Amino acid sequence: MNKTRQTPQTAEQPLWQTIVAKLQSKLEPGLYIVATPIGHLSDITLRALNALSLCDVIYCEDTRVTKKLLAAYNIRKTMHAYHDHNAARRRPQILKRLQAGQAVCLVSDAGTPLISDPGYRLVKDAIEHGQTVISLPGACAPIVALTLSGLPTDRFCFAGFLPTKSGARKRVAADLAAFSGTLIFFESPRRLARSLGDLCEILGPRPAVIARELTKRFEQLSRGPLDELAAAVAEAGPPKGEVVILVGPAENRDGAADDAEPRARAALVDALKTLSTKDAAAQVARRIGLPRKQVYDMALALKDRRSP
Ligand code: SAM
Repeated sequence: MNKTRQTPQTAEQPLWQTIVAKLQSKLEPGLYIVATPIGHLSDITLRALNALSLCDVIYCEDTRVTKKLLAAYNIRKTMHAYHDHNAARRRPQILKRLQAGQAVCLVSDAGTPLISDPGYRLVKDAIEHGQTVISLPGACAPIVALTLSGLPTDRFCFAGFLPTKSGARKRVAADLAAFSGTLIFFESPRRLARSLGDLCEILGPRPAVIARELTKRFEQLSRGPLDELAAAVAEAGPPKGEVVILVGPAENRDGAADDAEPRARAALVDALKTLSTKDAAAQVARRIGLPRKQVYDMALALKDRRSP
């Protein structure tokens, strides 16, 4: 006979509240890294709600944003701001709380803290001071985008926000050109067209996806080669909302992964800084194993795009 005791279910109490009630009545001391929704308000875990309602204090990027989330779940809690401008001052205070045995939650405005959001130094300091760090996982825009992209998921590289200047963006793309998996970037809608163009210049017309307004009402996934997406966004103007860019590995004519061309392009960007077009093409063709004429044409195209 199964002797597991069933929690009585009342008509008024939804199942999730019963489960939360059973989770814990008191939180263990420690720093709780709590993921919050990136759009859809319901994308928050029962464990996260439990921690937010039982902790001693919540540190968040913007108290106004977190106040709305807490209000939606009827949670009232002391909040303090923890953001790039006050983090250095706040950290010692938070460590003191942890040393005093408090349960401290860290949340960002949306998604998983520390992922292009504040928190890395706090976690590092907490670990160095022997404090317990607990992750309460949940929504994270790069992972949501990856799972919807239709691009390979076995190997991926999340590279955070692209730099705002074109030269720096191309250098980032060149650094990542040899990676044979899906590349994931954050970008502002204002710079989206130019960034897609720069990525295409270095990586070639790889398969790509723009993931916009994930988990929200107007969620949209636009798929196509980088050059076509760049042209489409340039024509339509900056999209509304938030976006993630994903770039798949290069494909040859059979649709199989082929990274020789992007690697050559990335190597050319470097070689052209010090060598003539002819010498750069010869050196890169030898190194990557592509025909010299093909690499020479790529070098000419790169130079063309750079000249004003
Ligand atoms: N920590 C967050 C996470 O785990 O998703 C990311 C914070 S970062 C400051 C914000 C960037 O994430 C946005 O500029 C955008 O690139 C991406 N992002 C966040 N929410 C998104 C959404 N709902 N749809 C598309 N992109 C989103």
